[in-house]
Amino acid sequence: MIITATHINYYHICHRKLWLFSRGIQMEHTSEVVEEAKLIHESSYPQRSSKYTELDLGVAKIDFYDEKNKVVHEIKKSRKMETAHQWQVKYYLLLLRRAGVPEATAILEYPTLKKTMEVFLSDDDAHYLEEVEQEIEQITRQEKVPEKINKSFCKKCSYYDLCWVE
Ligand code: SF4
Repeated sequence: MIITATHINYYHICHRKLWLFSRGIQMEHTSEVVEEAKLIHESSYPQRSSKYTELDLGVAKIDFYDEKNKVVHEIKKSRKMETAHQWQVKYYLLLLRRAGVPEATAILEYPTLKKTMEVFLSDDDAHYLEEVEQEIEQITRQEKVPEKINKSFCKKCSYYDLCWVE
């Protein structure tokens, strides 16, 4: 199975979401939240397209990569899912390490909050992510969809209707 940075992100949010996504069930087109996030992504830094390059790592696409300084820039809307954001970005750094760029670092950017956060990949992080890759394999192989988690952020999840609307 091909594991992407999105799998890593969803693993840290909800295993049901991860399982649904891994089965090709995607409902982003029904989510206003996802649409809003896309708009922020596209409109926050219009000058960036010339400054940074898009980097396709096969299983992950980095929209803004500062090749000169080896820094990944990842734009997010809010800090509510900060842990998931950090692991998603650390996974980019792991993929870059595997591709022969072990010194890369990252900056998580929250333009609507005017906040940034530096992200690094330690050897312990890399080891943890390798374990997460194995757990993702196990979760997505399960026949049965994992249980709902009933968190406040479910209301903003693109799978909300699927999980909660009878
Ligand atoms: S709505 Fe909640 S339970 Fe359902 S996939 Fe999303 S986060 Fe998980």
